[in-house]
Amino acid sequence: MKDRKLIERIEKLRQAIRHHNYRYYILNDPEVTDAEYDRLMRRLEELERAHPELIAPDSPTQRVGAEPLDEFETAAHTIPMLSLSNALNQDEMRAFDKRLKRFLNTAQDIEYVAELKFDGVAVELVFESRNLLIGSTRGDGFVGENITQNLRTIRAIPLILHRGDDLPPPERLEVRGEVIMHNADFKKLNTERERAGESPFANPRNAAAGSLRQLDSRITATRPLDIFFYGIGEVRGVTFASHWEILHSLHRWGLKTNPHRRLCHHIEEAIDFYQEMEEKRDTFPYEIDGVVLKVNHLGLQEKLGTIARSPRWALACKFKPRQESTRVMGIVLQVGRTGALTPVAILEPVSLSGVTISRATLHNEDELRRKDVRVGDTVIVERAGDVIPEVVKVITSQRNGTQKEFHFPDRCPVCKAKVIRLEGEAVHRCIGLTCSAKLKELIKHFASKRAMDIDGLGDKIVAQLVEKGLVKDPAELYSLRLEQLVAMERMAEKSGQNIIDAINQSKESGLARLIYALGIRHVGEHLAQVLAEHYPSIERLSKANEEELMNIPEIGPQVAASIVSFFKEKNNLRVIERLRAAGVKMKEEVRKVTAPSRIAGKSFVFTGGLQHFARDEAERLVESLGGRASSSVSKKTDFVVVGETPGSKLDKAKELGVKVITEEEFRKLVE
Ligand code: NAD
Repeated sequence: MKDRKLIERIEKLRQAIRHHNYRYYILNDPEVTDAEYDRLMRRLEELERAHPELIAPDSPTQRVGAEPLDEFETAAHTIPMLSLSNALNQDEMRAFDKRLKRFLNTAQDIEYVAELKFDGVAVELVFESRNLLIGSTRGDGFVGENITQNLRTIRAIPLILHRGDDLPPPERLEVRGEVIMHNADFKKLNTERERAGESPFANPRNAAAGSLRQLDSRITATRPLDIFFYGIGEVRGVTFASHWEILHSLHRWGLKTNPHRRLCHHIEEAIDFYQEMEEKRDTFPYEIDGVVLKVNHLGLQEKLGTIARSPRWALACKFKPRQESTRVMGIVLQVGRTGALTPVAILEPVSLSGVTISRATLHNEDELRRKDVRVGDTVIVERAGDVIPEVVKVITSQRNGTQKEFHFPDRCPVCKAKVIRLEGEAVHRCIGLTCSAKLKELIKHFASKRAMDIDGLGDKIVAQLVEKGLVKDPAELYSLRLEQLVAMERMAEKSGQNIIDAINQSKESGLARLIYALGIRHVGEHLAQVLAEHYPSIERLSKANEEELMNIPEIGPQVAASIVSFFKEKNNLRVIERLRAAGVKMKEEVRKVTAPSRIAGKSFVFTGGLQHFARDEAERLVESLGGRASSSVSKKTDFVVVGETPGSKLDKAKELGVKVITEEEFRKLVE
């Protein structure tokens, strides 16, 4: 009875592993994380070790990879390309060293070469008389797919070996390496694929495998692949004494090896290397998932031989996994300090690179839809370095119909103000002036120099005012009392009084500054000025509709929508009402533009360093004289003012035939 259950358990594990092998090696689209796959494999290995009579030759523990695809011609390996047994931590590395010493019956330290374990695709290349003859995948270890044409498109692979000066290449060289895709290239490729409506690759390894196993080598040629060589198969004509020597020789023959490797005189040195590389993991421009240890002396390697599917003399020391699968228990919205709403997946806690993770970002609505993450889904989450954990993909095969889609609300979960997503933006934003999630930023912006210019109201004071609940919206600044300020940390009576005075003075800032201070999305200083020129009061502006706003040349549909929704929000109107009641000036006195006509109505762009003005000073000057300052040159620009070492704006001006003037000429214009 017990036996039958055991056999069933073993068979189930084998089936699961075979299924995952197929998804990983054939489809390049794994359904589980590597860590999870490794756990299944270890469980099977343990059961088989305890019951060796149940080991079958077709068990995944006895085999490597997967059989070659029918679409390709096959290529046999003279010496099988094996897998590696693995260790998950230092203790397992020490246990490996002990095992080898016991096997070799020696107490002497074993010398190891420690290398990076690249997360890519293993290939073998055969060179004869220096020429590349054939290239293949590992396949099932004995027979791989002949992908010579594809490999020839990789620039890092020489079609003919270097002469190697005093060490000419052997008559026949079978050399092994890992084809990889750099992280930056992977991201670029995925962006292009998404743009073209193709599904993105899940990770650089899948991208490398998918690119390499193309039936049309022209496609492979367009993919940015690279390779590192790390070992040999059969070699005729040269003999080596050590693995270290092999790596050096490969390099001399023009075969790219990786410089991050170390000759370790004993296991502790190898462990140091492993730790160092794990710390540096995120600084490499390509993915590595561990370190590989190899016994350096080939004589010892030969004595140690191989077991089932891996050499006894090598060990893959895996880093802590940074991907795991877990369940999405809920999706919540986090309101950032600028009012951006970020969907966050609440996860069943899971340990990732040694840290327990219970939340992962879903970035924004588009990302959420693209990945189609639903509450109740099983997902793969990843945490790379210090980056916020994120959901990599959903394992859709685990869906059972109870999963629920998430819909963005139209009200902020914190303050209940309207949430808007402007055209062309990926982010939803809360537009409330009383939202506690963004209050500190709101107040800081409101008080800033170019807004209401409340001197002395620095970041730390704003933080205290908000945290103590003294200010819940910008209007409450105007009811602050001296004794409240003085009660705050490091605040003397004099500085408190200065702040109160500055707050009072700010009431006279004028309409343009007030509009800017409200922090309406896309309404910067310049637009605020433009709006103040078109609308004599906040009241008038608050009643403007989109069409009317768009009659102003600088205002497009996105800005108009932002302004209109801001003033539709009742809470915002209430705050404005209270600002008015506090005595904040809400109207613009009719401005007589006394500026010379040469500036009024003209638009200016500055490029290069000015001698007599700071850039923003010059821009403000233009605006105070009724002109416009812009940051980019277009056909509508009237003048480009050129300072020292101008940038590309000068070229643009010339290209568009816009008038270019010097700083001196500009000074004359404004005088
Ligand atoms: P392996 O990845 O543990 O080790 C062998 C491979 O390491 C070699 O074939 C070679 O490609 C590579 N390698 C990288 N750098 C190397 C270096 N410096 N020296 C020597 N080899 C180097 O074993 P494997 O048999 O290729 O694959 C098994 C692993 O693949 C699993 O542990 C798992 O991580 C992953 N896998 C995942 C799934 C899944 O569904 N997620 C399925 C199958 C396999």
